[in-house]
Amino acid sequence: MGKTHDVVLIPGDGIGPEVISAALRVIEAAGANIRWRGGIIGAAALEKFGTTVPEDVLNLIRETKVALKGPVTTPIGTGFPSANVTLRKALQLYASLRPVRNLPGISSCYTGVDLVVVRENTEGLYSGIEHEVVPGVVESLKIITEKASTRIAQFAFKYAIQNGRHKITAVHKANIMKLSDGLFLECARRVAKEHPEIEYEESIVDSTCMQLVMNPYRFDMLLMENLYGDILSELCSGLVGGVAVVPGANLGDEIAVFEAVHGSAPDLAGTGKANPLGVIMSSIMMLRHLGENDVADRIDAGVKTVLTERGHLTPDLGGTATTHEMADAIAEAAIVVGSR
Ligand code: NAD
Repeated sequence: MGKTHDVVLIPGDGIGPEVISAALRVIEAAGANIRWRGGIIGAAALEKFGTTVPEDVLNLIRETKVALKGPVTTPIGTGFPSANVTLRKALQLYASLRPVRNLPGISSCYTGVDLVVVRENTEGLYSGIEHEVVPGVVESLKIITEKASTRIAQFAFKYAIQNGRHKITAVHKANIMKLSDGLFLECARRVAKEHPEIEYEESIVDSTCMQLVMNPYRFDMLLMENLYGDILSELCSGLVGGVAVVPGANLGDEIAVFEAVHGSAPDLAGTGKANPLGVIMSSIMMLRHLGENDVADRIDAGVKTVLTERGHLTPDLGGTATTHEMADAIAEAAIVVGSR
């Protein structure tokens, strides 16, 4: 039996508990040795503890250094601030990493897309720092710092080198936001100069959207500030089949929280129709982070088998399986791979 890993498990809101328990089934069947430590954040935590991100959960994640998280609900235009923003800032999870790839058997406009989105996760307009100046006038602050911009650029170049990527495109709107996005670019350029082996280019965010839709193959890695990263990573997920099939990680220097790209999908909560793939693939990223490559490979093979055979897919993928039936099929396929 290998090493036991302590991992905080955060079910989240909406479809979160369903897709997280589906992922647990798969992880356990594939033979990972994990001691799960429960943590609640989001709307569920607000109801129970009066806060969306209890200090106890932050401390637990600081202790284990790794968490697997379901999506959480954030009310629109009113109500409490995002638990995601709070969590990422509190734990300095400054890099959001979202690999976007076509998977076998999932239809989309493209085949062979292979992109990595790196998003600064702690500042920028996405922080939601806003106030009403006078009735009828509000101000939203976009804070960009040299420290955070340099740190995310260093992360992206290091990732590129360690993972055999060849090009980084810094995405910006520095023609208009000359100071804030200008500083972001200045930091990216400085870091790029230290890594001449990785090709570096810059692209204005609106034009990048158009180019991604028309020819995603011209990009390799996309580096950007928080709000552009939020929007473009969902655009990229649309190139390969949608938010339900793309995994993600929020990474700091020591702490890593893994979660799918999709949200809490209140329209699907409790229906048994949620696709568990995003969380299962985020679990594969988590297992590799923990050094459990054999277990990760087994789940990866299980996912590919189920997607190729097409007999146990959720409705969004054209099937009739429930969340748990699809997870059971992936778990069984992973067990078969493990027994070979
Ligand atoms: P969403 O990703 O929840 O849903 C968008 C669409 O995709 C919906 O039609 C939904 O049914 C579908 N979808 C999402 N996940 C799916 C899955 N696993 N299987 C099948 N279909 C799936 O985005 P939204 O509707 O914009 O947001 C809903 C809530 O989620 C909001 O409160 C938002 O703030 C929150 N959210 C949370 C996170 C997170 O916690 N990381 C990320 C995005 C949105």
